[in-house]
Amino acid sequence: MQIYAACLASYNSGILYGKWIDASADADEMRDQIATMLRDSPCPNVTVTCPDCEGEGGTEEFGRCDTCKNAGTVPSAEEYAIHDYDDFPDMGEYPSLDDVAAMAELIETAENDHGINADDLKAISANWHGKIDDISNALDNFAGIYDTLRDYADELADERMNQEEIPANSIARTYFDYESHARDIEIEYTVVDCPSGVAVFYPH
Ligand SMILES: [Zn+2]
Repeated sequence: MQIYAACLASYNSGILYGKWIDASADADEMRDQIATMLRDSPCPNVTVTCPDCEGEGGTEEFGRCDTCKNAGTVPSAEEYAIHDYDDFPDMGEYPSLDDVAAMAELIETAENDHGINADDLKAISANWHGKIDDISNALDNFAGIYDTLRDYADELADERMNQEEIPANSIARTYFDYESHARDIEIEYTVVDCPSGVAVFYPH
């Protein structure tokens, strides 16, 4: 789970400079790592507060700051964009880092609570355009991943007939219209094609 933060000043000068960042870190940690990457940029275009003395270099309390040589500021590139995703859903070039952290959490929940692997979650995420709240709502209504929707529908039909205690040899079972039942399920439920099969979500 990584995102690639690219320095835009470098990018615009034809230099590929940036850093892979662990997406499971919290948002502030990611911000820090990106700020460090931008300060180390080969194409600085702004100055920012010195990270070591926080602008206090050369004052009586702080003493000498070697990082900024008492200037209080250091050169840095200003802007970045996310240019690549590794083992993580594509959230575009300018996702908020809070959303990236929330997505990483969602991936863990999906895996631990629902047994959904990262590749399948990517497909599910794309269905809701990477919107964290929508994906999270969908997971609350997750029925499971099946080879085909028909497998899910038939299983559900049998379950319902068992609940209604319809005997195994009943004429109602023999002539139950599985196909028509499956068609209705397809209309009512949300179904997302995944690498492992189809992810089925209850209507809500
Ligand atoms: Zn300093």
